[in-house]
Amino acid sequence: MGIEKLLIANRGEIALRIHRACHEMGIKTVAVHSTADADAMHVRLADEAICIGPPAARDSYLNIANIISAAEISGADAIHPGYGFLSENAQFAEIVEAHGLIFVGPKPEHIRIMGDKVEAKRTAGALGLPLVPGSDGAVKDITEAKRLALEVGYPVLIKAASGGGGRGMKVVQSEDQLETSISQAGSEAKAAFGDDTVYMEKYLGNPRHIEFQVFGDGNGNAIHLGERDCSLQRRHQKVLEEAPSPVISAADRERMGGIVAKAMADMGYRGAGTIEFLWENGEFYFIEMNTRLQVEHPVTEMITGVDLVREQIRVAEGRPLSVAQEDLRFTGHAIECRINAEDPQTFAPSPGTVTSYHVPGGMHVRVDSGLYQGYKVPPYYDSMIGKLIVYGRTREGCIMRLKRALEEYVIEGMKTTIPLHQKLLRDPEFQNGDYTIKWLEEWLAKDN
Ligand code: ADP
Repeated sequence: MGIEKLLIANRGEIALRIHRACHEMGIKTVAVHSTADADAMHVRLADEAICIGPPAARDSYLNIANIISAAEISGADAIHPGYGFLSENAQFAEIVEAHGLIFVGPKPEHIRIMGDKVEAKRTAGALGLPLVPGSDGAVKDITEAKRLALEVGYPVLIKAASGGGGRGMKVVQSEDQLETSISQAGSEAKAAFGDDTVYMEKYLGNPRHIEFQVFGDGNGNAIHLGERDCSLQRRHQKVLEEAPSPVISAADRERMGGIVAKAMADMGYRGAGTIEFLWENGEFYFIEMNTRLQVEHPVTEMITGVDLVREQIRVAEGRPLSVAQEDLRFTGHAIECRINAEDPQTFAPSPGTVTSYHVPGGMHVRVDSGLYQGYKVPPYYDSMIGKLIVYGRTREGCIMRLKRALEEYVIEGMKTTIPLHQKLLRDPEFQNGDYTIKWLEEWLAKDN
């Protein structure tokens, strides 16, 4: 069924990103916004805008009843949840569908399975994805935990089944800490997520974070769009992402990509998804699957030429994937810098009014941001205010162009992480692609 009017249940740069894909497809857009976002760019550009509540996200961007009402009032026939907020809420997807609206996202049951990490791991294993050695499901009692930890070898990691953002995780170095760590991880998880189920994994010492972009049509056809390297993280938050990874060979991409695409086909997965792996000593280990579009999706778009939001909308309309695996080519290199309204040294949030604004341009430079001169960045939401994505035929060329683009980027009125990216790009280890998930925090500790 063709979508004519789509409601964007999100804000900021991703709301704008979705709006752009819609208008390029001739689809009208409905923006929803909190009272704090009345002047936001996505509200200005959308064909219609509806206020759905006060600033706090739970009263607006997470307010399911108000979002559904906005869809009914505006006569939208589809809802795109973006990332964050309600994007991985299976119940929201069900409610959207129960109202006869198209949910631009996966089937609710797949969102639910992948949202429970124990279930996700079991499913991934059954689909043939390589797992981190560890418990088969939840850790039930301490005797079993001790036996298992000896078997996989210390250090081990205790993780919460319903965890997220790195919470409810404990590294255990030796058996005498095991019992306390399990109960601490359990109570942290209970407090944060209302569920004290934990499981055990071997703790990998110094891996990279490599994730594969996948896409399914919901009818048993699926493709992969290569990997992204997102190892540069601070407190489990990605800072800079690149595609392809500097360490993954074409043969490994094809082999692992083939495995993930087949898994998605077997599952009957619908829409965009990301399968996250840790990668160490040449081996991939599945950690989780995100059943949504990712912040870093543009680097994949740059090297494949596929518009992932357009593809999401096509699949939601029941149309087939627009590209076949054998026609996909991975060309050149792309890097994304997340620009946050934060102090580049202390990372303290720095919301404010944009007093002066100039975006970089030129060949192969893309800026996804809702900023404009005079815009007041509200203090209530995530501090990411934009993304700079640059393409080059080689990684070296891409880095040179990115340096040039960062020199041009002017955002005045608040502190931003632009200087952090400039410093990072000058680092010889970064330039060599020689980094793991621990590298950035160590680099920050020694440099600042
Ligand atoms: P969350 O959903 O809380 O982000 P993940 O399972 O994605 O949890 O893990 C978050 C991060 O924790 C990973 O990116 C990685 O840095 C680290 N991590 C997870 N599992 C392991 C492991 N088995 N060994 C070492 N580090 C891990």
